[in-house]
Amino acid sequence: MTGENPVGLDLETIRGLPKVLLHDHLDGGLRPLTIIELARERKIELPSSDPEELEAWFFRGANRGSLPLYLEGFGITCSLTQDTEALRRIALERVEDLAADGVVYAEIRFAPILHIQGGLNLEQVMESVLGGIHRGCEKTGIDARVIVCALRNMDPAISLEMAELAVDFRDRGVVGFDLAGDESGHPPKKHIEAFQYLRRCNFNITIHAGEAFGISSIWQAIQYCGAHRIGHATRLVEDFAEHHGGQLSGGTLAKYILDKRISLEMCLSSNLHTGAIEDVKEHPFLRVLQEGYRVTLNVDNYLMSATTLSSEWDLAQRVFGIGIDQFEILALNGAKGAFCGHSDRVALIRNSLLEAYADARTKLGGEGIPVDAS
Ligand SMILES: [Zn+2]
Repeated sequence: MTGENPVGLDLETIRGLPKVLLHDHLDGGLRPLTIIELARERKIELPSSDPEELEAWFFRGANRGSLPLYLEGFGITCSLTQDTEALRRIALERVEDLAADGVVYAEIRFAPILHIQGGLNLEQVMESVLGGIHRGCEKTGIDARVIVCALRNMDPAISLEMAELAVDFRDRGVVGFDLAGDESGHPPKKHIEAFQYLRRCNFNITIHAGEAFGISSIWQAIQYCGAHRIGHATRLVEDFAEHHGGQLSGGTLAKYILDKRISLEMCLSSNLHTGAIEDVKEHPFLRVLQEGYRVTLNVDNYLMSATTLSSEWDLAQRVFGIGIDQFEILALNGAKGAFCGHSDRVALIRNSLLEAYADARTKLGGEGIPVDAS
């Protein structure tokens, strides 16, 4: 693919392309100025009250090559978002920021259990976040849904409660359930009861797996827990046929994921910052894309990784040489893997993606190369 796009698109053009974002953490994407204002109102001390310095502080904290260290910054963002006003505000701003980044459909995830320290109950937490998101959608015209996260390091009984909460809000904008947090020592199958409940309710499941841990984590997520999508899946390549010697599934897991069109929510900068990879060049993203997996490119955390989806596409363009045709595949893959339901997915593809990419290719002087619509 390298060389197909020697000039490359500038960041502004990439920002103008309609994008789909499936893996985005609400409390990893606060605006620095909002953090400062929330902290001032709530009398919480911060390492800096200058927005730029504060943003740099979060980035330095996240960029230490370790997932547990990466997650530390969430302690601050969560401490500031324990009331309705704060939750509504950050949810609304999240949608506004995604719209400004050219995202037309997003699934925003968060862990409600981390927002009940100020006296809100779980339903109030959900209503606050959904209120902000719906307001943001009205204001910007984009479509944003919610994924409820449970945390691997917490009691599995809490995960079941989060699963019930997610299903309870399925008619109000919640489209999926996720298991997040530190993978090490916390296999997804420990939370099997939550997943059994979700499957009985015909609900959508995505699981963070194969980021810090190997393919057994991905295998458990799919075959024990019923995941329809995998967050990160960076280490899936360990299962690719030529590398499978002695591995758990002997290459059949990767083939299963390919054949069943299980979406992979891959992230570049975030993987670099957590130490899942040492260099973006080593990231399996291009290989997975070329081999026809339903791969999507995501941000993970706008604030912690000091990036945007447009910047991640630009990074992929610079490192892997991808261009407009691959950008269209990424957007289409995102739409196909979205949890919003079939008719909404079709509408998203028809109304927001196909024509826009055809126009973009014409403007950019491309030859209208048909994309793989698998
Ligand atoms: Zn994540």
